[in-house]
Amino acid sequence: MNDPDGAQVTLSSPQRFAAVEAEIARACADARRERSSVSLIAVSKTYEVSEIAPVIAAGQHQFGENRVQEAKGKWPALLADQSDLVLHLIGPLQSNKAKEAVALFDAIHSVDRPSICEALSKEIGKQQRRPLLFVQLNTGEEPQKAGIAPADADQFIKRCREGYGLEIAGLMCIPPLEDAPAPHFALTSKIAARNGLKLLSMGMSADFAVAIQFGATHVRVGSAIFGARG
Ligand SMILES: *Cc1c(COP(=O)(O)O)cnc(C)c1O
Repeated sequence: MNDPDGAQVTLSSPQRFAAVEAEIARACADARRERSSVSLIAVSKTYEVSEIAPVIAAGQHQFGENRVQEAKGKWPALLADQSDLVLHLIGPLQSNKAKEAVALFDAIHSVDRPSICEALSKEIGKQQRRPLLFVQLNTGEEPQKAGIAPADADQFIKRCREGYGLEIAGLMCIPPLEDAPAPHFALTSKIAARNGLKLLSMGMSADFAVAIQFGATHVRVGSAIFGARG
């Protein structure tokens, strides 16, 4: 955004949060969906507690982190002040971090292999905590990206449920950077529907409005709220 002199105007994170909220409201109205059918996850990875606190004060309750270790360092202090915050793990999970992940997070968006299913199943039983679980799809079949290939999704979801007794709530996807996101969102939505899954974690800063058109229930928005990551 430019001021009349042509200088860059830097918005604060609460101002950017308000703009994202307004765009979500508009996208919901366009798609004839209730605003309450879409959860905004503010992705706070790489940002310090001091940068997250103003967004909490502005009324945001759900946050996403991509590393268990980083989240463990930042969130206990914030949760001590405000216990109704909801934390989402949106990045890859290692089996040896499942215990800490189940203890800290209310949702895990990156269930993508049997070893994780096994570790989660064990910890959920032990800790009596039930994080919302999403299976991550690799809709672009990118070799460097985590997630289950679309062709293997039905079988993997079945295995999560029957083999590991996990209740799967939904699907998550991250479309390839260079692709139009819509076909990836449509495919994710189709696979969710045929497996009886109600939740769709899809849409980031650049494409959350498109994701809402395709039925996203959880949008994961980082830089549009917190600013570009260093
Ligand atoms: C970082 C990240 C986001 C947020 O990305 P932005 O482009 O900053 O909105 C969303 N989802 C995942 C899995 C991420 O790692």
